[in-house]
Amino acid sequence: MIRIPSSRSIRSIRRLISAVLFSLLLSVSVILFLSGSISCDKDIIRYAEFNPSYSALKKAMEIDIESFGTDHHLSWTDSLAYISARCYDDYSRYSEKDLSTLYSRIKSGEKMDRICSGLKNFNYYHEVYSAVLGGLLGEYEYTAEDNTVKKKYGLKAYLPIAEGFAYSEYDDFGASRSYGFKRRHLGHDMICETGTPVICIEDGTVECMGWNQYGGWRIGIRSRDKKRYYYYAHLRKNRPYHCDLSVGKNVSAGDVIGYAGRTGYSAEENVNNIETPHLHWGLELIFDESQKECDNEIWVDLYAVTRLLSSHRADVIRDPETKEFYHADASVQGAGKGLSG
Ligand SMILES: [Zn+2]
Repeated sequence: MIRIPSSRSIRSIRRLISAVLFSLLLSVSVILFLSGSISCDKDIIRYAEFNPSYSALKKAMEIDIESFGTDHHLSWTDSLAYISARCYDDYSRYSEKDLSTLYSRIKSGEKMDRICSGLKNFNYYHEVYSAVLGGLLGEYEYTAEDNTVKKKYGLKAYLPIAEGFAYSEYDDFGASRSYGFKRRHLGHDMICETGTPVICIEDGTVECMGWNQYGGWRIGIRSRDKKRYYYYAHLRKNRPYHCDLSVGKNVSAGDVIGYAGRTGYSAEENVNNIETPHLHWGLELIFDESQKECDNEIWVDLYAVTRLLSSHRADVIRDPETKEFYHADASVQGAGKGLSG
């Protein structure tokens, strides 16, 4: 005989099921929170690539500079985000005409927000490109040939290798590396002679100096807006850093910060275990401070950016007594001889 439960028993069972479900849900939430799957900043970008080609980057920059100060200014973060959204980030589908046409539309009075409304992923690319390129273009001062200080809007960041020093490179981002553990190469290598002055790419603050088993003697510099962390590695044995450099110091784009070498791949300090002298530079994007050091750090391909920066190199002068190099134009940045701050 089947016994029909009383309404009181049914309520008890319901309460029990609710309690079990609630406990389960709470436990899962706590686990997800602790594992980082849930955070207070749900909207931050957790994955990004930088794939615009050099030709697209150059053309977008030229349009940005040409239109700056006009009522039809087209910023390169806007135009590159538009292209990436349109070509699904596949730059083999990009042609220069795409940017020229966009520029013509802006010049004829169309507004960017109207052109991009409904364009999937535009906002995502825009945020990523604003982070990558945020410190490269802007107004800066320079010394003209007649020795007067002038202002200009353009490429204000510098190539990390000083003017007059040879280097070679290729796109080696993502290549396999096996020292220590199997991993991807998360930066850009510029092959050059030991002792080549290394230049600060963008204004910022020195966050880290010292030895690392992989990078050897290295420097980490954070941009002023905190979104970019520049990493310079494998610096020279015995004398890796510029004498004025220290953690916490403010540095200006164009300052000499150290010297290229071949240190690294050693748990022991000051060891030359890298075969070919080169500067490794990397760029980490930080949308939230929790991303600075984590399992999912965002490092981007710098090949196109480096090619672009090759048109802006810092002249350096050498102090024959100390053998230290200095940015020849440092006084313009208000830095005086050496580093600012
Ligand atoms: Zn490297």
